[in-house]
Amino acid sequence: MSLNHVRPWRDIYRRKSRQIMVGNVPVGGDAPIAVQTMTNTLTTDVAGTIAQVQAAAEAGADIVRISVPDEASSKALKEIVRESPVPIVADIHFHYRRGIEAAEAGAACLRINPGNIGDEKRVKEVIKAAQDHNCSIRIGVNAGSLEKHLLEKYGEPCPEAMVESGLEHIRILQDNDFHEFKISVKASDVFLSAAAYQGIAEATDAPIHLGITEAGGLVSGTIKSAIGLGNLLWMGIGDTIRVSLSADPVEEVKVGFEILKSLGLRHRGVNIISCPSCARQGFNVIKTVEELEKRLEHIKTPMSLSIIGCVVNGPGEALMTDVGFTGGGAGSGMVYLAGKASHKMSNDQMIDHIVEEVEKKAAELDAAKEAAE
Ligand code: SF4
Repeated sequence: MSLNHVRPWRDIYRRKSRQIMVGNVPVGGDAPIAVQTMTNTLTTDVAGTIAQVQAAAEAGADIVRISVPDEASSKALKEIVRESPVPIVADIHFHYRRGIEAAEAGAACLRINPGNIGDEKRVKEVIKAAQDHNCSIRIGVNAGSLEKHLLEKYGEPCPEAMVESGLEHIRILQDNDFHEFKISVKASDVFLSAAAYQGIAEATDAPIHLGITEAGGLVSGTIKSAIGLGNLLWMGIGDTIRVSLSADPVEEVKVGFEILKSLGLRHRGVNIISCPSCARQGFNVIKTVEELEKRLEHIKTPMSLSIIGCVVNGPGEALMTDVGFTGGGAGSGMVYLAGKASHKMSNDQMIDHIVEEVEKKAAELDAAKEAAE
């Protein structure tokens, strides 16, 4: 349930799932919905991959996934895991040896479909390696790579085929007494993905990894993900998410957090409420917000800031934010603190001033939180 249960129309009731661990990050149960991304460097480029993992972690990623396509990548993975500030998921396709190597290299989780890595003996070996190295598994069903017998049975990728594929992989893990798994049923089509996720959410209590695969570029992929993941999260489905964008992994993390923030499911950093601006604006809202977004990236404390062009909506929005600025006349506007009009500030000094006020408020909130713990 969201923190806003005093307002019932904001409640989201999360599906009850088992909790597993991905390294030191709990996934499922009542754990915060974890945000993931994936590196797009060559895994053998250890320095480049570590830099990307660190940038993603700095932007808020809880978990990062890395492809392990060959033996050299398994070797590189060991060094990357050692330097990574967050748990690493190894992405494995078909090669059972890579799964074993990745578990040995310290991966916190293997993304692998046990039905696709060969005979029973090989499956058992990978599962044993995962067990021996405290490694969880993500079953990753994808509409684009469904098993042949399911495509023959259903004629095309459909929600039922995806759920059945997921349950078949789950059965293999359970038959081997392995229960530290989560599951995803991704498709690039929002409707197919959403229906498959609803089906799998009913059929198992495993934690669910949400994603719309191959969602597209920054703008189109963000919208597609916000609609697909947003709807599922609103229904209470999803324990960890990855937004797939043809863009920098840091952008994926930012979009993931924005989706969770919009639904009140997680809070991180400054939530800026700003108007689109119009002829009434008392200062350049668009340029100011762009600048403030950059200048406030370092703030991790959850808090709110309203930047509103004029008094039509400014005072009302400022009422509900920690810090606010509303444009006025004669080159200055009003600064609001904790919802109350505080003091006037000239437009040309307001960006520096707002950054200072936000930093001050963040320190105050952090201190209050520490005192309460
Ligand atoms: S708050 Fe004022 S400046 Fe902003 S869009 Fe509305 S009327 Fe225009």
